[in-house]
Amino acid sequence: MTFDGSAERTVLVTGGSRGIGAAIAERLACDGWSVALNYAARAAAADAVADRIREAGGRVRTIRADVSDAADVRGLFAEIDREMPRLEGLVNNAGIASPLGNFTDIDDAAMARVVSINVTGAMLVAREAARRMMRSRGGAGGVIVNLGSPAFRLGNPGELVAYATTKGAIASLTIGLARELGAEGVRVNTLAPGLIPTDMAEGRDIGKLLAGVPMGRLGAVEEVAEAASWLMSEKAGYVSGATLDVTGGR
Ligand code: NAP
Repeated sequence: MTFDGSAERTVLVTGGSRGIGAAIAERLACDGWSVALNYAARAAAADAVADRIREAGGRVRTIRADVSDAADVRGLFAEIDREMPRLEGLVNNAGIASPLGNFTDIDDAAMARVVSINVTGAMLVAREAARRMMRSRGGAGGVIVNLGSPAFRLGNPGELVAYATTKGAIASLTIGLARELGAEGVRVNTLAPGLIPTDMAEGRDIGKLLAGVPMGRLGAVEEVAEAASWLMSEKAGYVSGATLDVTGGR
């Protein structure tokens, strides 16, 4: 897919260096967005995604920031403000899994870490983005897509309950923000991928989990990116506060 647009508005994709975020970043660049491609640590992976975007004629800037660190998040947005076209989009994608196993076995540090990245991080980033999009603050409106998961309604017992809990928080963040920001010209939705083979899915018993997928197969990152592209576009102009499942029926 080649670049199609003027790239005069920016979308921030957090966690864009790998997996679902990388696919979404590439797709949105082709849709005409200037992409602020955030990553936490893997600069080489982020650079490789950026190279692919530039080869397709798109515009991108890689920016390192730990989304769970408020100072890093301020720095991330300061760089976008200084160096990029106006921010009108956010894909709140950065996230980690909790350690696989029973909830009763998770230790303090792992519990704090998954909450700080998946919940506090998503809130810090959404707040900064919304402040820039709100019409009452001089913004042009915008679109926020939060990466949720069917885990929030499945609970993922014996496996990822702590992670599922953080995705319950994401569902609430979407509902609250969609209602708070509707009159500000900002749409907010949850995109909930099912079983997608990324680094995050490593160690899970995919064979067993597939038995619970009506379509009987894993999803592809490109299928998630396609849904993100639609939610970010004017075609979804009256869609806000919604959850779009990309789960093969799960
Ligand atoms: P992934 O392949 O493990 O990639 C995670 C991305 O998040 C990487 O780009 C990583 O950056 C970044 N990241 C991690 N911690 C960060 C932090 N503190 N600050 C900034 N960036 C950080 O994960 P994925 O499977 O693509 O998942 C992406 C999103 O989709 C997550 O929110 C996840 O919960 C959700 N999701 C995934 C699935 C699935 O089956 N894969 C299903 C449902 C929902 P580095 O490369 O620098 O480490």
